[in-house]
Amino acid sequence: MHLLLIEDDLELGRALQAALKLEGFSCEWRRRVVDAPAVVDHQWVDCVLLDLGLPDGDGLDLLRQWRSRASAVPVIVITARSGLQERLEGLDSGADDFLVKPFAPAELVSRVRAVLRRYAKQSSEVWSIGGLDIEPRAHQVRLQGQVLDLSPREFQLLLELAREPGAVVPKGLLAQRLEPLGEAIEFSALEVHVSNLRRKIGPERIHTVRGVGYLLKD
Ligand code: CA
Repeated sequence: MHLLLIEDDLELGRALQAALKLEGFSCEWRRRVVDAPAVVDHQWVDCVLLDLGLPDGDGLDLLRQWRSRASAVPVIVITARSGLQERLEGLDSGADDFLVKPFAPAELVSRVRAVLRRYAKQSSEVWSIGGLDIEPRAHQVRLQGQVLDLSPREFQLLLELAREPGAVVPKGLLAQRLEPLGEAIEFSALEVHVSNLRRKIGPERIHTVRGVGYLLKD
């Protein structure tokens, strides 16, 4: 799972990033409105953590802008503003949850999970796709009930493909999602992971769309 954190406070930002990483989330961190993306979509992040008091503007304006551009990614507002009015304003602007500072990182992690669960197409924690059962949180995959031994990259690859079975996921996107904090991996490396994953889950399940990417058959 890949998160976008928009928070200007250095200390808090570092602490959150560390806490999220421990929980298996990768997290990209921006500190100003000007560095935030104009739109956020599921192709890029799974959830946004948004501070409101930013040095060059208000996080709520950013949120309204995203929503007006049909960005449907869940957004959790993290803020020192604790009044009811602020809370209502945040929710009216399209926030999915609202967390008042100071809070324990563990609380944020559990809110993130709750929001992601709500957004998940399948509300249960197990994604069942034609004999494959994927448990994102437990990092576990079963095929006809048998637990598969997947490397972290193979697991991530399967997860990306399983978000929308039957839809093509572009190679460039997969290459980036397998290395969310750094340079996208080489296509040749991606192809190796795809071929290893195919060997483990059955070659017919991952379909190559030439020149575009891959899709998981549903
Ligand atoms: Ca702030």
